[in-house]
Amino acid sequence: MKFSFKIGTIMGIPIKLHITFLLILPVFAYLFASAPEPYGFLEVEALTMRYTLSTLTALLLFVSILLHELAHSYLAKRYGVSIESITLFLFGGVSSMEEIPRKPSQEAKMAFAGPFVSLVLGLFCLILYEYFIFPTPEFLKNPAFRIIWILGVLNVVLGIFNLLPAFPMDGGRVLRSLYARKMSYIKATQSAAAVGKFFAILMAIFGILIGNLWFPLIALFIYMGATEEERSTQASVTLENVLIKDIMTKTVISVHPSMSVEDLVHFMFKNKHMGYPVMEGGVLKGIVSFTDVRKVPPLERPVLLVRDIMTKEVLSVSSSVQAHEALKLISGKNIGRVLVIDDGTLVGILSRTDLVRTLRLMSE
Ligand SMILES: [Zn+2]
Repeated sequence: MKFSFKIGTIMGIPIKLHITFLLILPVFAYLFASAPEPYGFLEVEALTMRYTLSTLTALLLFVSILLHELAHSYLAKRYGVSIESITLFLFGGVSSMEEIPRKPSQEAKMAFAGPFVSLVLGLFCLILYEYFIFPTPEFLKNPAFRIIWILGVLNVVLGIFNLLPAFPMDGGRVLRSLYARKMSYIKATQSAAAVGKFFAILMAIFGILIGNLWFPLIALFIYMGATEEERSTQASVTLENVLIKDIMTKTVISVHPSMSVEDLVHFMFKNKHMGYPVMEGGVLKGIVSFTDVRKVPPLERPVLLVRDIMTKEVLSVSSSVQAHEALKLISGKNIGRVLVIDDGTLVGILSRTDLVRTLRLMSE
């Protein structure tokens, strides 16, 4: 994800903070500071103390979310799925991982692991508070104990919310894996998405009836999540049936590293492609795209050369693999195209546009 930076590594997985997380953290701290007992610290008179407790609660809430994500990642790793990173952002956490396993039992366990950890953590905090802290005399003197109660409640809510049977919640995946035992993966995704959308509509109507606008907002988020999951599953399953050699552009037009950026712009207009391999004496040197050109101010375009702005690290695939592999690479690395290389020879180029066109044709 863009606009995020790494804060550490756990189980070999880079943990990142998204910029929106830095915005939401003070908001949470403020909410805890202005809520009365038992959900906040409004009655704590010393301001420093009130805000320290509130900030600590907000931080621990995000640690809880991180633990939820780590639970998904732990099982994913056990099933051989590689996890690129875990990012904490505005609405919680996301683990960016490779393809989720298509085995229903594995997907179910992986999806359930997160809410399970949230529920266990939440119940543990609530029991600790109810039976060991609440009955003691220290309890009355120290509002810090309330953090345990708040975390308990929020983790239980987090666990239950994520078990709602709708994408993009974990419960949606659990539901799909149940359907997938009886039908194809695409059919199972469509059925689970349909349940999710139905659920979202009910939720929106309920919210409007009781006059609470949070419900329609969350419902919209669920509806969009269901649609997106359906679309991306359809795309990856469809592209599993196509080989790269059948859809790549075979006539590769390349450019020379000593071409000026100015000339490259004209070349791009004439040839109507947005990216070109850079070749010198039959050897691949890099790849240059419109994105690279756009970074160069117009005045510098006549003096700078292709070799100065090209990307030297070239991502490539072999022509005999599934188009699905190219999709993973292109969307995972957020690039426009990959080069198709067989035994060290450039045989074609495959762009995002080629993939979109294929998907459109196949869905007709
Ligand atoms: Zn989850």
